[in-house]
Amino acid sequence: MKKGLIILFDVDDTLLDFAKSERKAITHTLLTFGIEPTEELIAAYSEINLACWKLIEDNMITRKQLDRMRFDILFKRFGIRGKDSVAAGACYRKALSGACYVIRGCAAMLDRLNETDRLFIVTNGAEATQLKRLEKAKIADKFERIFYSETAGYSKPYPQFFKYVEDRIDAFDISRTVLVGDSLTSDIAGANCAGITSIWFNRKGQTADVATPDHEVKNYRELLALLSQLREQMTGVRA
Ligand SMILES: [Mg+2]
Repeated sequence: MKKGLIILFDVDDTLLDFAKSERKAITHTLLTFGIEPTEELIAAYSEINLACWKLIEDNMITRKQLDRMRFDILFKRFGIRGKDSVAAGACYRKALSGACYVIRGCAAMLDRLNETDRLFIVTNGAEATQLKRLEKAKIADKFERIFYSETAGYSKPYPQFFKYVEDRIDAFDISRTVLVGDSLTSDIAGANCAGITSIWFNRKGQTADVATPDHEVKNYRELLALLSQLREQMTGVRA
């Protein structure tokens, strides 16, 4: 077993470029339903999607409700009538499974870490969608195991989700574990609550307002440098 860190990675906007995938999937869905994909519609969808995911994080709605709700709200807001929001939700999800773009340098970063560390994924995305995207992005096999909140029955940031993950990692040791993620509300708040060292992947230069990360990086170069320091401090392994 590798002696370095146990690293838990978020997926969207940490490994995959979600904005790009989302844009492609929503454009395809709107066109399929005979709606012109204007910038206004695409931006509104993105905003609605984000708001709906917050409801999932707070356990207010189910994933099934999410699929339909996003299009219900979008169609209502833009006065679009006579379209089936359930079918649109299914179409979007299918398109999203096929749309995946890694953030530049992602695969090389993972390969480098794989020499010393054990890599895992912790994602709030749906299992079928996320696995397809990771496989298509050719990074699924770089992880020892992938944990989906859908399967766990709890989402990040809930402590139950992290307990589920910890129970299923062989020889889990929290003192050598770090989490890397872009979301303050799900990744950083969740890791902080679970007592896991948190690294905020802040590509967009945002302000840490709702949760305080232990560490912050803005690109993979900084991430690798930080992990190398933490590896030595937390495990004594130099690489
Ligand atoms: Mg994310």
